[in-house]
Amino acid sequence: MQLGRFSIGTGDRFAHQAKAQLRACMLAAEAGVSVTPVWNKSNREHLIIGSEPESVRRAADAAVKSLGWTGEYFCDADHITLQTVDRFLPVCDFYTIDVAEAIGKPAAADDVNAFVARHTKLVGEIALMGTQEKFSITEATVRATAEKYLAAVQQAGRVYRHILAAKGAGNFLPEVSMDETDSAQTPVELLLILAAIADEGIPVRTIAPKFSGRFNKGVDYVGDVAGFEREFGLDVAAIAYAVEQFGLPGDLKLSVHSGSDKFSIYAAIHRTTARLDAGVHLKTAGTTWLEELIGLAEAGGDALALAKEMYAEAYAHKEELCAPYATVIDIDERKLPKPGEVAKWSSREYVAALRHVPGAAGYNSSLRQLLHVGFKIAAKMGGRYLELLEANEAIIARNVTENLFDRHIAPVFLGRAR
Ligand SMILES: [Zn+2]
Repeated sequence: MQLGRFSIGTGDRFAHQAKAQLRACMLAAEAGVSVTPVWNKSNREHLIIGSEPESVRRAADAAVKSLGWTGEYFCDADHITLQTVDRFLPVCDFYTIDVAEAIGKPAAADDVNAFVARHTKLVGEIALMGTQEKFSITEATVRATAEKYLAAVQQAGRVYRHILAAKGAGNFLPEVSMDETDSAQTPVELLLILAAIADEGIPVRTIAPKFSGRFNKGVDYVGDVAGFEREFGLDVAAIAYAVEQFGLPGDLKLSVHSGSDKFSIYAAIHRTTARLDAGVHLKTAGTTWLEELIGLAEAGGDALALAKEMYAEAYAHKEELCAPYATVIDIDERKLPKPGEVAKWSSREYVAALRHVPGAAGYNSSLRQLLHVGFKIAAKMGGRYLELLEANEAIIARNVTENLFDRHIAPVFLGRAR
């Protein structure tokens, strides 16, 4: 099972866009770059929507068949834990093992001591590929990192072995994710975490650290772009070192979570992967659901009316919709238009406010974030929403494909400036 150098995670909340998403990967192939599609959906999304993991598999298989895709593709049990993984086991072949909750929990003192003793070779200066910078690691750093992360990695080992027992070796790709936590991991911490992952015997294929800066849902990166580029390069170098020294799989690569719409760092990601001959997995999800709304708004008539109703409902329930996502959205309430105002908007005005073109007249990132977390409302509308998706399939599909290809795949994997 090969994920390949480049892969993109795509979320398809209502299981209607798999074909349009796959078409974006076909456009990449036509441009000469292979990008493996991975359909991801977390347990939280399944619960909010009331769907089953099997629906993701069915939609992915159908899209692959209908478009004649001959490359690899995967279904990702996104952000699973020991408590939530079981219902994904029959249909998923990619597992994002989320151990963020165990970060900072103490590991047994003996285990920490054993880790420190096992990795004395890492103490001192470590030369890295592709940079003059070196890691300076003291025994205190090794110990402090083990105290913070060893319990989380041990938990990842338990989840991995649980999946292994059900699926068998070689039948799935494991990712370890640590992004949904308060503070970013440094490249040195990443290196030590990878040492612990190797000790646990997890053949990890992608690792999702938390990077510096804000990765809010569905909107651009907020932070120091130059600092991000340096950190990203050091993370890639840490991975190369870990592959060589700890015997981790040779295709291990970074996974960038909440990776959609981070337009201002895409050039940095592309430059770094090109310079260091590295791969990357870019995970996106809700950006596609917003393209459904954009397509509906663009279509006008009943579809535009429903898009306006969606906004009015989201506005009325903003507190409860935002609560589960509080740490990954930054909505400025004063910038949210009143539903009465949106009710008067034309297709063009609605689309301009929602479509993510930073700097474009009318673009409103607060409105976009609110609608991003508002998919629960579409789920509640049920059949009425799905019928309009189907009636406006062509216009929505065009938006979904364009968004994934032009705004994500092209800058990240093809290096095309936007
Ligand atoms: Zn994540």
